Amino acid sequence: MNRERSRDLYDRALSVLAGGVNSSVRATQPYPAFAERGDGAHLIDADGNRYIDYVMGYGPLLLGHDLPESVRAAVQSHMSAGPMYGAPTEVEVELAEFVARHVPSVEMLRFVNSGTEATVSAVRLARGYTGRDKVVVMQGGYHGAQESTLVEGSPDAPRPSSPGIPQSFAAETIPVPFNDTETLESVFEAHEGEIAAVLTEPLLGNTASVLPVEGYHERLRELCDDHGALLVFDEVMTGFRVGGLQCAQGKFDVEPDLTTFAKIIGGGLPAGAVGGPAEIVESFTPAGDVFQSGTFSGHPMAMAAGLETLRYAAENDVYDHVNRLGEKLRSGITDIVDERAPGYTVLGTESMFKLVFTRGGSEGVGDSCRAGCRQEPDCARFERCPKTGADVANAETERWDRLFRPAMRDRGVLLTANQMESQFVSDAHTEEDVEETLEAYKAYFE
Ligand SMILES: *Cc1c(COP(=O)(O)O)cnc(C)c1O
Repeated sequence: MNRERSRDLYDRALSVLAGGVNSSVRATQPYPAFAERGDGAHLIDADGNRYIDYVMGYGPLLLGHDLPESVRAAVQSHMSAGPMYGAPTEVEVELAEFVARHVPSVEMLRFVNSGTEATVSAVRLARGYTGRDKVVVMQGGYHGAQESTLVEGSPDAPRPSSPGIPQSFAAETIPVPFNDTETLESVFEAHEGEIAAVLTEPLLGNTASVLPVEGYHERLRELCDDHGALLVFDEVMTGFRVGGLQCAQGKFDVEPDLTTFAKIIGGGLPAGAVGGPAEIVESFTPAGDVFQSGTFSGHPMAMAAGLETLRYAAENDVYDHVNRLGEKLRSGITDIVDERAPGYTVLGTESMFKLVFTRGGSEGVGDSCRAGCRQEPDCARFERCPKTGADVANAETERWDRLFRPAMRDRGVLLTANQMESQFVSDAHTEEDVEETLEAYKAYFE
């Protein structure tokens, strides 16, 4: 596989872009495949190599690389009319109406431009609304590049996970393990009346897709209610992917107080949103006094791309298709590692999938987790199935970066950069793509 042009481009990029990229995760070693164009489920790189793509923009591309005519036409029409105004437009009202109609907990929204901006705004809203400062996050969770959530450590000793964030900011954040309600209970007791919000992804999508154990979300909901804290679901990744148009909160049947969206809601263009009941969301300026604003927020082209993408998903069997292929991938990979590397674990749900190089001995696979770990207590692998971010971080993460991902790329399958990032099936993927992908997995493990 000739990759010279990507290598040369990376060489140039290293002189003018920090680390050669504009988002850290793109800097795969020794050099990334520079994208030339997309074609359905495929990405064609700068050297003309063609890959089956499961990165899918790290989540936004529900429909694949070729946007349906309705999406393209809507974006082009808004571009021709004038890209943006600094005045409100009809299309942002329509997208808000669409989201409020489909997502159970959402009555009202504020649009922003990215997932990071959505979680920044949600945290400020929760703090402003409750008059409290502390937020609880999940260890290993990811809520974008923001000060309040780039925090690691234990509940008693939180610390910034990046230089540039003052310890005094981190002191307002309490990291707890996902799927662990006991720790959360003790945190609420130790900080009675101080916690503004618990912020979590409905499933840990940024940690290879760790699913909640039975009853976890119900208990989260109860604890937040008991202690006057808001439950904030970060559905930036799961929104309009898991649980279809109801999002993961519909699938898991819990109503958060606030939800953050991005990725799919912009249909491949930059957009994000915070949604919830009017009573809370109207705390944002100018309705309320929690400051929030943005020059590009509700950008007509992004709103149009998001709206037409979601309409397309509503009118076609997109979720049936991506979920069926996701299931096929997870069960196919489970079969392959069962034979060769039974210690490894397949994670994910619906159109998300990830193979985790779990450490530890092998065990029989129960029928209940044929298509990926589902946290079913009677499954033979229940104890071994990752429950927290730390369980995934403890896997053989180097194997992914150094060996597995490059080997799969050389076999024409583009996977995400590291052990933590989920992978996505799009509407453009076909049965043949999945079969070809499973052949590549099989060849790797032979
Ligand atoms: C991707 C992601 C973010 C950050 O979104 P950006 O658009 O990259 O700023 C936040 N939260 C979750 C759950 C994400 O998956």
